[in-house]
Amino acid sequence: MTGADKVRDLVIVGAGAAGLMAAIAAGEEGARNALVVERSRDGGRKILISGGGRCNVLPSQLSPGQYMTESSPHSLRKLLLSWPLEEQRSYFEGPLGIPLALEAETGKLFPVSERAREVRDALVARARALGAEFHFERSVEGLVRDPDTDHWILDTTPGGPVRARTVILTTGGLSVPATGSDGTGLRLVEALGHTVHELYPALTPLVSSDAPHAELAGVSLEVTLVAPGVRGAPEARGGFLFTHRGYSGPAVLDLSHLAVRSAHQGRREALHVQWTHEDRAAWDTRLADAGQAEGASIPVSSLLRRALPQRLADRLVREAGVDGSIPLARLRKEARAALAGVLGAYPLPWTGDEGYRKAEVTGGGVSLAQVDPRSLESRVQPGLFLAGEILDAFGPIGGYNFAWAWATGRQAGRGAAAWVSRQG
Ligand SMILES: Cc1cc2nc3c(=O)[nH]c(=O)nc-3n(C[C@H](O)[C@H](O)[C@H](O)COP(=O)(O)OP(=O)(O)OC[C@H]3O[C@@H](n4cnc5c(N)ncnc54)[C@H](O)[C@@H]3O)c2cc1C
Repeated sequence: MTGADKVRDLVIVGAGAAGLMAAIAAGEEGARNALVVERSRDGGRKILISGGGRCNVLPSQLSPGQYMTESSPHSLRKLLLSWPLEEQRSYFEGPLGIPLALEAETGKLFPVSERAREVRDALVARARALGAEFHFERSVEGLVRDPDTDHWILDTTPGGPVRARTVILTTGGLSVPATGSDGTGLRLVEALGHTVHELYPALTPLVSSDAPHAELAGVSLEVTLVAPGVRGAPEARGGFLFTHRGYSGPAVLDLSHLAVRSAHQGRREALHVQWTHEDRAAWDTRLADAGQAEGASIPVSSLLRRALPQRLADRLVREAGVDGSIPLARLRKEARAALAGVLGAYPLPWTGDEGYRKAEVTGGGVSLAQVDPRSLESRVQPGLFLAGEILDAFGPIGGYNFAWAWATGRQAGRGAAAWVSRQG
């Protein structure tokens, strides 16, 4: 048998978060000669840019209800909890040698070094130490099963075909294609008979076509953002940032999928901002009380400037059509209601989104019903394993998406290693 004909036990396609963890887990379970095929020059490009170069490795708390999927929430729960958060954390701090520190304001865990590169390099080094071989700058363009031998044939460039008994596909979704994930893997699994739930950019900034708030670009604050028209009125509490083209920050990113999906359906889902976390009714009461209290002689604008960044406060007073110089005591009921509206239920005038170019993740993906939750083996194609963002699930900002990639990557690595050892 020539080198080109050699049959690999396990080939992992994609050395991102999920693929690297899969390679490690497979090695730990005894699959010592996995080949990792990665199209970028060094893999883990998203890890490198994550968390602003600091890599938010994990959240400090996690609940499956925080994740989105079109598949069964029960399947999602099983997959996510297959590697409990505390064990994930211990793995990073123990075998991987990356102590993590809590950022108290956000509940995020970062490496103490605050260097994303440390995370990526530690994962690659451990996979190598466990016997994985890496082929960088090599891309998988096709995946078919040889009906005679049941082996997988991967069409790679450069280098030609590679044969394998088992394959783990961890090629990610469509977000930030410059990191290497352009959807090739999704096309390959769809061609192999898998159901791919509607794909859409998620955790992406929103834009407003005539940039009505461009003058506020750079202003940031903590807000609560609410989608009042969606069942359960989901809300996101966190940072909000005015950009030149629209709106960003964790609160916006976390609800952006509702905007994106409504736009795909030709609608525009309402998103309301509570600039100080207080809703319309709370502001109405606060303004009424302030008008009766001591200090009711201070101008309306002064009260708002104490509660909000000045440029935003002045803008909201103007939008409410209120004279900011009048004392609180003279604020009439209608003016109070108008102010309470812009302060506690401000309709965000979004018209579009920044798409996959800036989306931190891809919504949708391979139906969770089509993988065995214990091993991540495809129920459609035995011997094929799937993990990470290629699957139909994503979480909010805060380390939740890596938690998903680590948990599913590990299960797939273990599952594939067990498959290889069963086949002898
Ligand atoms: C800017 C940004 C910041 C983020 N910050 C955080 C954060 O701080 N915390 C967090 O939890 N999540 C964060 N995320 C999300 C997180 O990065 C992803 O959820 C995670 O990387 C998904 O891992 P994955 O391995 O499934 O996919 P990916 O990381 O996308 O990896 C897929 C890999 O497969 C390779 N590949 C694709 N197709 C082929 C092919 N045909 N042949 C060979 N190789 C191929 C790609 O080159 C890539 O290396 C961030 C995302 C972005 C874009």
